[in-house]
Amino acid sequence: MKYSKAYLEYLDKKYIWHPFTQMKEWMDEEIIIITRGKGNYIYDIDGNRYFDGVSSLWCNIHGHINKKINEALKGQIDKISHSTFLGLTNVPAILLAEKLIKILPDGLTRIFYSDNGSTAVEVAIKIAFMYWQHKGELHKKRFIHLNNGYHGDTIGAVSVGGIPLFHNAFKPLLFPTIKAPSPYCYRCEFNLKYPSCNLLCAEKIRTIVEENPNEIAALILEPIVQAAGGIIVSPPGYLKKVKEICSKYGILLIADEVATGFMRTGKMFAVNHEEIKPDIICLSKGLTNGYLPLAVTATTEEIFSAFLGGYDEFKTFFHGHTYTGNQLSCTAALVSLKLLLKKEFIKRVEEKIHIFEKNLKMLSELKHVGDIRQKGLMAGIELVEDKESKKIYNYSKRIGHRVCKEIRKFGIFLRPLGDVIVLMPPLSITQSEIKHLIDSTFKSIKEVTEKEVF
Ligand code: PLP
Repeated sequence: MKYSKAYLEYLDKKYIWHPFTQMKEWMDEEIIIITRGKGNYIYDIDGNRYFDGVSSLWCNIHGHINKKINEALKGQIDKISHSTFLGLTNVPAILLAEKLIKILPDGLTRIFYSDNGSTAVEVAIKIAFMYWQHKGELHKKRFIHLNNGYHGDTIGAVSVGGIPLFHNAFKPLLFPTIKAPSPYCYRCEFNLKYPSCNLLCAEKIRTIVEENPNEIAALILEPIVQAAGGIIVSPPGYLKKVKEICSKYGILLIADEVATGFMRTGKMFAVNHEEIKPDIICLSKGLTNGYLPLAVTATTEEIFSAFLGGYDEFKTFFHGHTYTGNQLSCTAALVSLKLLLKKEFIKRVEEKIHIFEKNLKMLSELKHVGDIRQKGLMAGIELVEDKESKKIYNYSKRIGHRVCKEIRKFGIFLRPLGDVIVLMPPLSITQSEIKHLIDSTFKSIKEVTEKEVF
């Protein structure tokens, strides 16, 4: 049965509560109803085509309705879609674990499955905490995390979050943590400049650790790029220094690569840029090419073995979800990974990153572009009212939102992070699409920030 757009819009506005959305505003606006996708494009119910400029919230790598993934899923669905992972195992989950271990940084040898980025982080937090408990280091209970960090929306993940707008309201519900500075050079918390700052933001972590001896269980961060915090790219050497501090003081390093994993930053994992080995890594988003929910928390054998013992020793990791190890999700991930690992694919992504980086430079001419941050096929363009003083726009002006609405005229869908315009196209973007994306971003920023009278 075919429903009219008006009727579907009526039903959506009557029954649905959308994430990260002021629903009052949503109910007053015309909404876009997506009915299909193809390659790097999504299509709405009226047949309008939009380039998927944020990879359907940063997950899409190979484009929509990928033939190979579709075929594999059709094959799997005729066998079985889901069977529990509690007390049973299954073929796609086993094969995927083996494939992941082969590409993960050395030392990560165990895969724990869950459903999304937030649950991958919850698992990491619980494992890190329990690890020290099992080792008899009972005082090691505290977590360090960064200002501007984002690790998901469940309460554990919010506890280690650092974005006031998203996280402050929940403070009374959160466990106590220790916050470290964000490696945000454009708005350095110490008003210093890289490299003469000598990475004071990382050094502060050493101070925190020394002030809380033997209390820190783990440090969690988004390596190289703090994504939801505004695509904040850390300066060279930052990650390596943090890792050195963690190793020196016996602190587990949790790398949350939910946004940065699977070639998004130009390397398979962002930690590869500084060749560091985390103790725990969290993955999701790109894992299934955005087809189905799936996440991974991978740990070292040292961590895993701390949980081994007789049942009555109570070392079992009591955590799991109904859909853990879902067979369809693991099938999609297996094929997506196979496509990603092709030599030509990696080479093409590297070429595209070069073009992306080169084209982005033209945006700096614009009067209200304060900072352009890019790593791989991930960019954040920070808009400011005044370039000289870096003055931010009044929140109510909703500049980022307006730029993203403007760019729809060019057949592109984007979603901003406040006044940071995010460009995170599928890795399958073509060279001409890169040009169109950045040209249209230029025109849209100019139109909204220079022509409009506020
Ligand atoms: N961690 C990072 C770095 C993320 O960027 C996100 C989502 O954007 C999450 C965790 C949470 O993932 P999810 O939305 O799948 O729960």
